[in-house]
Amino acid sequence: MKPTNAIAPKLVVCPTCGGESVYAASNVFRPFCSERCKNIDMGAWASESFRVPAKNLPEDQSTDDDLRSSASH
Ligand SMILES: [Zn+2]
Repeated sequence: MKPTNAIAPKLVVCPTCGGESVYAASNVFRPFCSERCKNIDMGAWASESFRVPAKNLPEDQSTDDDLRSSASH
């Protein structure tokens, strides 16, 4: 009574509620388990884009790259 992988639907973890979600064409809300979970995540994503973090800029890497290119020049 082992389920065949080729037939069994792929299950993923819903990013919103952490529950099981069917990752298949039949689930239009994938990777979410439901429309509710999808809407919640979209709302969180939209509100997060309003406060853009002005930190962790790769300034050090840019300087390092600049030094390297001038050295090889
Ligand atoms: Zn969910």
